[in-house]
Amino acid sequence: MTTKRMTKLAERAVRGLSVFISVGATLACATAPAEAPGASTSLTASSGAGAPAELPPLPPAEGNPFAGATFFVNPEYRARVEAGAAKASPADAALMRKAAAYPTAVWLSSIDDLRKKLAPALRDADAQRKAAGDRPIVSVFSLYDLPGRDCNAKASAGELTADARGVERYRKEFIDPIAKAFAAHPDQRIVVVLETDSLANLATNLGTPTCATADPIYRRATAYAIAKLAAVPNVSIYLDAAHAGWLGWSGNRAKIAAVYKDVLRMAGGDDKIRGFFVNVSNYNPLTGDFGKALEPTNPCPNELTYVAELADSLRWAGITRKAFLIDTGRNGRGGLRQRWGSWCNVHHAGMGERPRAAPAPLVDAYYWIKPPGESDGTSDSAAARFDEMCAGPDAAPGAPEAGEWFQAYYVELARNAEPPL
Ligand code: BGC
Repeated sequence: MTTKRMTKLAERAVRGLSVFISVGATLACATAPAEAPGASTSLTASSGAGAPAELPPLPPAEGNPFAGATFFVNPEYRARVEAGAAKASPADAALMRKAAAYPTAVWLSSIDDLRKKLAPALRDADAQRKAAGDRPIVSVFSLYDLPGRDCNAKASAGELTADARGVERYRKEFIDPIAKAFAAHPDQRIVVVLETDSLANLATNLGTPTCATADPIYRRATAYAIAKLAAVPNVSIYLDAAHAGWLGWSGNRAKIAAVYKDVLRMAGGDDKIRGFFVNVSNYNPLTGDFGKALEPTNPCPNELTYVAELADSLRWAGITRKAFLIDTGRNGRGGLRQRWGSWCNVHHAGMGERPRAAPAPLVDAYYWIKPPGESDGTSDSAAARFDEMCAGPDAAPGAPEAGEWFQAYYVELARNAEPPL
């Protein structure tokens, strides 16, 4: 392709983007005329200059598993919050109990988690579906046990090795039993958030030796998981697309799109997945310019801009009509970090938009994927999985190991929620 053609299309993308943002931003800023959530009337719309501007082709609305569904609320999570509320001041306890009512993803972060969490969650979701009458229920599972997990950081290093044995165990002991369990609950709409922080590392972090080793392993294991889980009709799969502060630059977006193309080819085709998830365990607001101050060269200063730009990059790679999930569990407040790369228990953060279906074009749902209150990593420098990010200037002090309950942080998130709880 010629540079000229690229420039023309890039211009079109930017014009389309401004339309997208004005539609999407109605929810957050209420500056533009209100649109019904998920309204897709603006496939072609007029830009300010009067010229037609295009949005990337939208995903089919009927494939959105969140639409028209009751969202499963994980009782295990509620119990954790309740145990915390019992120790909090009356005012904080009241806030915590409000926040506990929102849905969060069930994280399967080890083989042992299948025994501990998978069957109970599926059973509880079925019970909630029955209690909700005729509405379908949607449950969200974050699968997080890739061989060589967290190759560019330390805090969430996993149990499986980045080698053939690790892949074999991932297939037989993790993915296969999960697929079987999902298939046994055909009345449930099951959303799979597949391996946070995995494919994005292949786009940008191959200079890290553990990521270079993990590259072919991640691809093979992910392709297997996609193929296996896509064969279960009630499952919708979303892949890791990191966040604006990681892949927002056009070069990085082109790189991740090429990774997707390769993995989806190995998995049997683009149609195996519903889309991509962004901002999981991160803190980027949906709108606004907060990212500009941190990274002026990044054309994506927030997550809604990133999603629209990424959809355009995907189109260049031939991947179209994909939807996005945005984690809004901890992104209520922007402007908190000295470095955009700070990812660990960012201090003074607040819960963001409440989970809901089809809040903006291209977006299947806002959802609290990383359960607020669960730590990103320990701040104890003597711990084996200590990552210096977790004791950096942007991190909240006193953090326990990744995944453990971080009471003071939950209180902070609830107090700083935006919109307020
Ligand atoms: C941890 C997992 C945990 C997940 C959700 C990750 O950072 O490594 O063990 O399940 O966060 O809190």
